[in-house]
Amino acid sequence: MKKIVVVGSSNVDTTLHVKDFPKPGETINALDITSAGGGKGANQAIAAAKGGSDTNFINRVGEDSDGRFILSQLKSYGVDTTYVQTTSGKNTGHAYINLNEAGQNNIIIDHGANYELSIEDIDAAEDLISESDAVITQFETPLDVAIEAFKLAKKHAVVTILNPAPAIENIPNELLKLTDLITPNETEAGVITGIEISDETSLKEASDKLHGLGIENVVITNGAKGSYLSTKKVEKMVPAFKVEAVDTTGAGDTFLGFLASQLETDFSNIEEAAIFASRASSIAVSRLGAQPSIPTFNEVKEAMGKNNG
Ligand code: ATP
Repeated sequence: MKKIVVVGSSNVDTTLHVKDFPKPGETINALDITSAGGGKGANQAIAAAKGGSDTNFINRVGEDSDGRFILSQLKSYGVDTTYVQTTSGKNTGHAYINLNEAGQNNIIIDHGANYELSIEDIDAAEDLISESDAVITQFETPLDVAIEAFKLAKKHAVVTILNPAPAIENIPNELLKLTDLITPNETEAGVITGIEISDETSLKEASDKLHGLGIENVVITNGAKGSYLSTKKVEKMVPAFKVEAVDTTGAGDTFLGFLASQLETDFSNIEEAAIFASRASSIAVSRLGAQPSIPTFNEVKEAMGKNNG
């Protein structure tokens, strides 16, 4: 069983369902209000655990009911929360999502306790990191924390996986040099490389540029088109499985959690792992919600046996 450590964010997602977005100064009524666990870190940790890995999450929540909710969600999906700490005086991270009837959204994030995660928190988890197969992080917690996590991972020859989301323009060189595998979606790859991604040629161009930044292994996810793999051994597009998408929230997080759970530490099986991860995320997008929609390892295995891709 793989041992995965995810360093990252957790949020409570509150969605206000509206007919149309309000204009500046306008007051409108919500059609419905729903709440769910979210945050890229928590989603990826849950996906890795559901994908069959022994998964630990390093995060901070507030001393509030949202924090207790996040902890109970993580535990219910099998994530080890020993390193999820409670911060007094800060609220749990919260994403406020407006979702209109056309399926468009706009989101305001209150990082809350996520930004309290510190270098000291990572140092306190050095033993855990040293015993893991891979460390995953993103950009919803402080950058210096990501760098420290990857420094410790490399000190102990542990694989580092960077999901550069949400997109930032100037990723510190120090972090890129510590990254074994980068997994942007097409938008994030575009922001990092300055290449507008429209087809396989531009995916290859962007991958080459990412290799040029010192990263040996690249996977760019491209929504319903699939994912582009570029390593020393493999250079190819893995098409997505065809499904009727109901809610694509968390597709990338599901893909990454399952990819990391299947991936050998020498990346030798990256194509098989990506196909399995694509199958997992195709199931996730065909169901509502982010965390509840993530399938289990057995569901994905069963779906792999069916000829419906
Ligand atoms: P999100 O931000 O919504 O979590 P993302 O932009 O990070 O997602 P995507 O590139 O949209 O990630 O999707 C990740 C993977 O999920 C894709 O490579 C593909 O395998 C699968 N996927 C996404 N959308 C679909 C879809 N509509 N149908 C089938 N598979 C999909």
